[in-house]
Amino acid sequence: MMNKKTVRDLTVSGKRVLVRVDFNVPLKDGVVGDDTRIRAALPTIEYLVEHGAAVILCSHLGRPKGAPDPAYSLEPVAKHLGTLTAAPVRFAGELVGEKARQAVESLQPGEILLLENTRFHPGETDNDPDLSAQLAALADVYVNDAFGSAHRAHASTEGVARHLPSAAGFLMEKEIEYLGGVLADPERPFVAVLGGAKIGDKIGVIRNLIARADHLLIGGGMANTFFKARGDAVGDSLVEDDALETAREFLGNPRLHLPQDCVIADAFDKDAESRVIPAGDVPAGWRILDIGPETVKWYAGILSGAGTVVWNGPMGVFEFPAFAEGTVGIARAVAESGATSIIGGGDSVAAINQSGLADRVTHLSTGGGASLEMLEGKVLPGVAALDEK
Ligand code: ADP
Ligand code: MG
Repeated sequence: MMNKKTVRDLTVSGKRVLVRVDFNVPLKDGVVGDDTRIRAALPTIEYLVEHGAAVILCSHLGRPKGAPDPAYSLEPVAKHLGTLTAAPVRFAGELVGEKARQAVESLQPGEILLLENTRFHPGETDNDPDLSAQLAALADVYVNDAFGSAHRAHASTEGVARHLPSAAGFLMEKEIEYLGGVLADPERPFVAVLGGAKIGDKIGVIRNLIARADHLLIGGGMANTFFKARGDAVGDSLVEDDALETAREFLGNPRLHLPQDCVIADAFDKDAESRVIPAGDVPAGWRILDIGPETVKWYAGILSGAGTVVWNGPMGVFEFPAFAEGTVGIARAVAESGATSIIGGGDSVAAINQSGLADRVTHLSTGGGASLEMLEGKVLPGVAALDEK
């Protein structure tokens, strides 16, 4: 399925390999918090080290304003990476420029050098050809393992690939295989579950999935806009009036399923008073915060026969335990379905981790925005730029 070169297709021994990773991790008081993203890049890094490459890593971190800002330095990440690998890890203190060149110059095969934050240069997000040429000049080969940034055409994700032989890293490969594979040729029935806060962000996903999936199960805040579009009173529920027109367009589709019952609350609060009501009119002063138990049962039944499941967006305000049952119930149904299951989206992945079912899902996508764009059927610029097999 995947027609892009991967690291396995490259000869890397004795070469300088520039790897774009996603080290955009939370930092607190100069220390890495959750290091999931760093660990996710290790298979590619270790492979290159073992095959005798001099490994040059680059990444963005946070949103510095196109200029150096010590609060967004990758130095703590270099320190942390040093604790995860046996290979020596150095930190360049620059992305491009004299210091970076010298650090690359003295880098030996089997060693790792982390460059400074790509977003310290305005040319990164502008995809400035000068910056990508300077980056490319540091290396012989380019590998992109930053799936989470692949939907952005930036100097370190897209521009640089035009200057060097290029390939996908292992993480990138896995993401493309699962997310791309499921859309190209899903085992049926193919069931998509969509929720989350806003329909506006996901109209493209609905449009693409409704054409491909056998069932599209809707939950979360986005269901409210559908409810209002069909004429229900929605009380104080989160609704996007801008999207009503689009919601109406999908309403008659027999593959689109809306919740049959809802959990409503008298305030947006973890301790709010709550009630289960059949889908329909929500009393004034109340708002929908979760799908109801009948809907969980109905959706679980559909999921139990699935060959493939794609899930993006929690079914309710799962951050409040009183309104997490819909999300946890669907997570359990996905885990028990035996289907190939793919979960994407920052909050959805957090929810599945919170429910302790993560190891029963086939693939948890590491890229929020990038996975959504894949589900929209878009070709990601960071993927398109890589060499074909
Ligand atoms: P993801 O990050 O997985 O793509 P989103 O960011 O689209 O998901 O949505 C996640 C958010 O949606 C969560 O913070 C959750 O509290 C919120 N949410 C889910 N259902 C509702 C609802 N009925 N009303 C308000 N917010 C909701
Ligand atoms: Mg989110």
